[in-house]
Amino acid sequence: MIRKVKGTRDILPPESRLWGVVEAEARRIFEGFGYDEIRLPVMEPTELFVRTVGEGTDIVSKEMYTFADRKGRSLTLRPEGTAGVARAFIENGLGQRPQPMRLSYMGPMFRYEKMQRGRYRQFSQIGIELLGASTPQADVEVLLALHTFLNALGFEDLVIVLNNLGDPEDRERFVEGLKNELLPDQERLCGDCRRRWTENPLRILDCKVPICRELVAHTTPVADVVSDEAKAHVDAVAEGLSALEIPVRLAPRLVRGLDYYLRTVFEVISPALGEDTVICGGGRYDRLISDLGGKAVPGIGFAIGEDRLIDVLPDSFKHRVLDVPVVAVLPLGHEATASALALTVQLIEGGLRAPAEVSGRSLKAGLKWANKMGAAVALILGPSEIAEQMVLVRDLREGTQETVAQDTVVEKVRDLLGRGKTE
Ligand code: ATP
Ligand code: MG
Repeated sequence: MIRKVKGTRDILPPESRLWGVVEAEARRIFEGFGYDEIRLPVMEPTELFVRTVGEGTDIVSKEMYTFADRKGRSLTLRPEGTAGVARAFIENGLGQRPQPMRLSYMGPMFRYEKMQRGRYRQFSQIGIELLGASTPQADVEVLLALHTFLNALGFEDLVIVLNNLGDPEDRERFVEGLKNELLPDQERLCGDCRRRWTENPLRILDCKVPICRELVAHTTPVADVVSDEAKAHVDAVAEGLSALEIPVRLAPRLVRGLDYYLRTVFEVISPALGEDTVICGGGRYDRLISDLGGKAVPGIGFAIGEDRLIDVLPDSFKHRVLDVPVVAVLPLGHEATASALALTVQLIEGGLRAPAEVSGRSLKAGLKWANKMGAAVALILGPSEIAEQMVLVRDLREGTQETVAQDTVVEKVRDLLGRGKTE
């Protein structure tokens, strides 16, 4: 037997329905805020990620799926979405369009990581990017869009944590101070962090090894070492969020796993998954597009880990999506199948989920099939019903049945399901 690649997942029904509805909600909310979807390749030139995500990051140094194509070009399966958006922005001249440019994306990302709950080698992200605005108000909008989306899914226990990374110029000063403070304990850092010490010291701050955490906990927070402008920016973001009653927690030591962020950075934490398995990460990246050779176009965005989001969906949402009533359409004999399928279409147009029996089952076996599927109602269609344009409606929960005219069946079924006509 051939098995799936380690770290990939088969998402089966009915769970796949949750994915579909989450994505539809994301489109509804983000489109409402003015974000249109950009659909990008899943493979890009390797150099794109090396130059944007950063050479010293975990993603680039050990997590990328990089391979040579048949002509020897180095390609990489995208590990994240922002780099591709920036590339496409420059390549397609999106800076010529009305600014700011609001873009959303969703789809698979690839990282060679150690597998565990919420950590896969192929996973999906849903993200938005606001390009061409550098104001704190732009950050507020992006965080409001995030908050509105999570609210629409019924989340009540997620926490947005916010920090100020300062500008790249502040960072040099900060990193120097950090190294000074950690110097006496340098030998106690994990192997990865000793490597980071020279390659990318900021990354030491998001190491998950307990001893590194402990050592880092006593250092000066990055938010304390930022310029006045950067401070004013993130303070204004926090104020804007509070005016909209969006609760955020300040996390002065939060850094993110990608090099391009500056000033505003944030994450969404769920109590169920804990601080090491965050639901969403994002921030401002005003130098990214110019670093890639484009104009100086500022940007801010986030990426939600859809796998993790779905893992912790509230019961109310799961109930709404998964407990949709099913109507079984049961033809008696092959001659009745065409009418049964026509009836199915009528029910679908009426907003119902109404699969027809097409395996040639007897009425008894058909009712068994309906019960197994958890159908609430069965519609039975034999030669006499067809001749009279009627259908037998059987309430499988009550065990009652009644014959109704075919053109009133949608209404009848809706009544039985207790959903009313107007819904
Ligand atoms: P982590 O610290 O958990 O490794 P990250 O900082 O590497 O996350 P980002 O690059 O910011 O993550 O990606 C944004 C979101 O994508 C994360 O918050 C997470 O929800 C999701 N994500 C990242 N890597 C994975 C993965 N391997 N499997 C599932 N989801 C992931
Ligand atoms: Mg990671």
